Amino acid sequence: MSKTENLESQEKDLDQGESLLAKLALEAELADYSPVKGCMVIRPYGYALWEMIQSSLDRMIKETGHQNAYFPLFIPESFLKKEAEHVEGFAPECAVVTHGGGKELEEKLVIRPTSETIINYMFSKWIHSYRDLPLLLNQWANIVRWEMRTRLFLRTTEFLWQEGHTAHANKEEAEAEALKMLEVYKTLSEKFLAIPVIDGIKTDSQRFAGAITTYCIEGLMKDGKALQMGTSHYLGQNFAKAFDTKFQDQGGQLQYVYQTSWGVSTRLIGAIIMAHNDEKGLKLPPNIAPVQIIVVPIYKEAAEKEIVLKKCKELEETLQGSFRLKIDDRDQYSPGWKFNHWELKGIPIRINLGPKDINNNVVEIVRRDTNEKLKNVPQNGLLQYLLKLSTEIQENLFRQAKDFQSKNTFNVNNEKEFAEKIVNGGFLTAFWCGNNSCEENIKQKTRATIRCIPFKLPVDQSKKEGYCISCNKDSKQKVFFAKAY
Ligand SMILES: [Zn+2]
Repeated sequence: MSKTENLESQEKDLDQGESLLAKLALEAELADYSPVKGCMVIRPYGYALWEMIQSSLDRMIKETGHQNAYFPLFIPESFLKKEAEHVEGFAPECAVVTHGGGKELEEKLVIRPTSETIINYMFSKWIHSYRDLPLLLNQWANIVRWEMRTRLFLRTTEFLWQEGHTAHANKEEAEAEALKMLEVYKTLSEKFLAIPVIDGIKTDSQRFAGAITTYCIEGLMKDGKALQMGTSHYLGQNFAKAFDTKFQDQGGQLQYVYQTSWGVSTRLIGAIIMAHNDEKGLKLPPNIAPVQIIVVPIYKEAAEKEIVLKKCKELEETLQGSFRLKIDDRDQYSPGWKFNHWELKGIPIRINLGPKDINNNVVEIVRRDTNEKLKNVPQNGLLQYLLKLSTEIQENLFRQAKDFQSKNTFNVNNEKEFAEKIVNGGFLTAFWCGNNSCEENIKQKTRATIRCIPFKLPVDQSKKEGYCISCNKDSKQKVFFAKAY
């Protein structure tokens, strides 16, 4: 295969994953394109999914001691310029308001691409003494980053997210906070979204503009591409110095605070779509599915209908305290149509209920993770049965994704192996000397980037020393490469 053909086939792979994402997002009615290029309309089903993710994460954010607050959408342009690296990183992506109320503004306002600056401005007013620390805040908000190449959920000009911002009296505490929130994100991803992740540190080229260290979690999607699913930054005193955020320590000395910020976004919906699907559509993990059980009544005549619907209502009463359940009793659609419809939407459990089942005191259950049909499940003890099944589906989706990740993680020792393997996607582990130019060289040749310097390597790849994949110099660190969204 010639080099250009190789590139073309990679290009094709790239488009396949992205077109599958768009197809599923549109057909399952999660989102739609908006009249403004690069923006996205989140439809009710997509928003319900976001609310499920939001409530799970919000609970964990509060359990770790944070409070929610809200800061303005507009940021004075001068604020952004105060931290040199920050402005350099974000200026190209900023949308700027120049007019308001029919007049040109005295100072332009940036629509927040992230809120470190405006939050530091407020922190400098609120923090005076060590007694005011730590200050642990979070906000749920929308942000705007002017993207040239947009994709539903994964990369949109406006998106929804949460951003945590904290201030601490010392470095150790701030670093521990950044790692603690990364762990929260990992729990969200693995226990709720059923997506296994690699956690680690970003290289300098991928570090958040203005941070000292950026920690991340990276998932592997079914098309072989990696997705950055969440980041947590140790900011050191960079923003504190820019905004003069100081406190008086116990010895009466003025010190700059140490800070963190961390965020996940509606991109997680893209991750769920791309991690759990088959030819029938989505497969939502029960822990975050807006509807966990769909009940489809099956009947032919009016007399049957009455009996079947009555039984469905009884089922609903038994199960509704334990499950998010819906009965699809629409007459205008056939059962077959409904089966396809709810499979496309990824509902974890379907109960089919007809007159015969009622006579025999059973139901028919179809699980979406395996598409397996479970016939003649007794109505007696159904609640317990479904609770167990729901846990099993949640765990099975995680296991499937974990198996996929393991089967698509390869160790490579030289550039030739690298080029051969990366064509089919997946995570590649390889030694890297730490030089930016080697990272860039690999990116130019293969489009793969370093996703992270992992905290932990797969067990079979624990060799401590080797040679850089690009320059062959001695290296003491192995990193994860992948083509990424
Ligand atoms: Zn090198």
